[in-house]
Formats: sequence, C-alpha cells, structure tokens
Amino acid sequence: EKIFSGFSKTRDNLAVIDELLLYWNLADTDRVLDELEEALLVSDFGPKISMKIVDSLRDDILAGKLKSGNEIKEALKRSVLNLLTGKNGKADLQLGFRKPAVIMIVGVNGGGKTTSLGKLAWRLKSEGVKVLMAAGDTFRAAASEQLEVWAERTGSEIVVAEGDKVKASLVLSQAVKKGKDQGYDIVLCDTSGRLHTNYSLMEELVSCKKSVAKIIPWAPNEILLVLDGTTGLNMLPQAREFNEVVGVTGLILTKLDGSARGGCVVSVVDELGIPVKFIGVGEGVDDLQPFEAEAFVNAIFA
Ligand code: GDP
Repeated sequence: EKIFSGFSKTRDNLAVIDELLLYWNLADTDRVLDELEEALLVSDFGPKISMKIVDSLRDDILAGKLKSGNEIKEALKRSVLNLLTGKNGKADLQLGFRKPAVIMIVGVNGGGKTTSLGKLAWRLKSEGVKVLMAAGDTFRAAASEQLEVWAERTGSEIVVAEGDKVKASLVLSQAVKKGKDQGYDIVLCDTSGRLHTNYSLMEELVSCKKSVAKIIPWAPNEILLVLDGTTGLNMLPQAREFNEVVGVTGLILTKLDGSARGGCVVSVVDELGIPVKFIGVGEGVDDLQPFEAEAFVNAIFA
C-alpha cells in the first residue's frame, strides 16, 4: 500500500521508539519515557498529546499492566488510535441521499486544494459517480485553468466564471443549479484561498455557502478543509479559524508523503474534533486516499 511508503519520514522519526523499548526495563522507565515523548514531539504530536500519552503509559507501567517493551509499544499504538477515533464524525464522506450532493473545498493557497479536488473527482468517477466541478477560485487567474486541466484529466464537466471579476458565489450557484437540473451526483466546489488573515476571504466563503444553500437547501453536504501536512502544528490556528467561520465537516491533509510531521494528524483531530477524511500522499491522480486510522497508526509505528 502506498500509505506505508507515504509515511516513511514520520516512521523514520519514530523508529527511535523501537530501539528505546527494546532495552526498556522498569528501572529505566523515566529516561525511556522522556525520550519517547521527545520522539512524539519531533513528529508534531504536540505537547499536550505527547504528555497525555506518556503519562498514561507511565501509569500503566507503574501499575504493572505493561511488562515489556512490546506491550508498551502496543499500548502506545492503542492510545494514538483512540485519540484518532474517539472524536465525533465519520471518516467517510456524508453525502446524504438527495442529488446532487455538494462538496465545498476550502483552504489557503498552496495547500493542495485544487489538486485534492482533482484527485477526489478521479476517485469518485472511478466509483461511477457523475461529477461536476465548479471553479470557485475566481481571484487567482490561474486557478480556473488549473482546475480545467483536472476536469480534462478526470473526464469531468466543469463550470467556470464567464468574464472577469465574477463573484465566486455566483459561479458556485450556477454550478449547483446545473448539477440539479442535469442530474449530476456530486458538485465539487473549489474556492478561493488567499491568506486566512484577510477577513474578506472568510466573508466570501460564508457567502459561497449561503448561495449554494439557496439553490438546494441541503447544500453543502460537506465542507472539506485542505491542510498542508508539511506545516505540522502551524496548521492549527488556521484550521480553527476556518472551522469557526464556515464550519468544517472534514479534513484533507496533503503532502504527507514528504512530511516527517505525521503526528500533526493526531493533534489536529484532537484539537478540532473534526475527522480526517482523506490524505494526500503524492501529486498523481491516485494519490488521495481515504483516511484509515488503523492503517495510519500501523504505518507510522511500523
Ligand atoms: P491550492 O493553491 O491550495 O489549490 O494548491 P495546489 O492544488 O495548486 O497545490 C500546490 C502544490 O502542492 C502543487 O504543486 C501540488 O502538486 C502539490 N501537492 C498537492 N497535494 C500534494 C500531496 O499530497 N503530495 C505532494 N507531494 N504534493 C502535493
């Protein structure tokens, strides 16, 4: 599976844990757990989670529940898995039963929004879904062209702005209307991604959301926030703001193939309580994968 090679850098970071646990003995617990915590921090699990994990391991070791390095490793994996799956929200897309379902993709420029939208279209098309794309990033001139390339590549229809300075909300509502009138299954909406510190972007996203809901009341079914995995914990404030303003229903974490910071997946889920729905592990059409918590844990603690 690609996911296993995808996390090689995070896995390399965490491999030190195996060596530590190989030579663990009770008398050595404090030093080993300190170093284990350090390894988690380096991989961007974040201070809160790293401490929480290590404290619970220490409790279980001192209570005699964990008696070997192997048992400690298994307990570590279990607690990471619990952190990932204990939160609200399903990891698969929630698209309801009425057509078309509408997915809005949001996130700052450069994070991998357009690429992820293209890869998602590819995935949906391969499942036999009739996909319509909406080029809602009307600020960045090249964005529509980039999306048109993805439409071509995936054999999807696309709605783009006719003329300059067209509002994103107009493009999205036109697309959703077309999706409804012409029997599409899913409308995938790209949006603008200028820096989140620019308030007008957030205003625009809110107006995009309202404009699609005007056409069909259940839309958008999903608002997926694309986050650049290489930014690690730095993604957190940005994610919080998007969530507060537009209400994010799922995350797409990109560029995890090149990142040694895979632990941020755990911290972002823990902090926001929003499920990761997909991960990006490369630039090709096949490189968007549904997020599976168990496979992820096995990949990083291989
Ligand atoms: P946008 O501005 O958010 O729409 O970002 P783009 O979709 O244009 O992506 C920015 C860059 O990141 C492009 O060069 C993409 O090919 C690259 N990219 C996106 N997702 C991934 C990923 O999962 N892995 C890698 N290695 N590169 C990615």
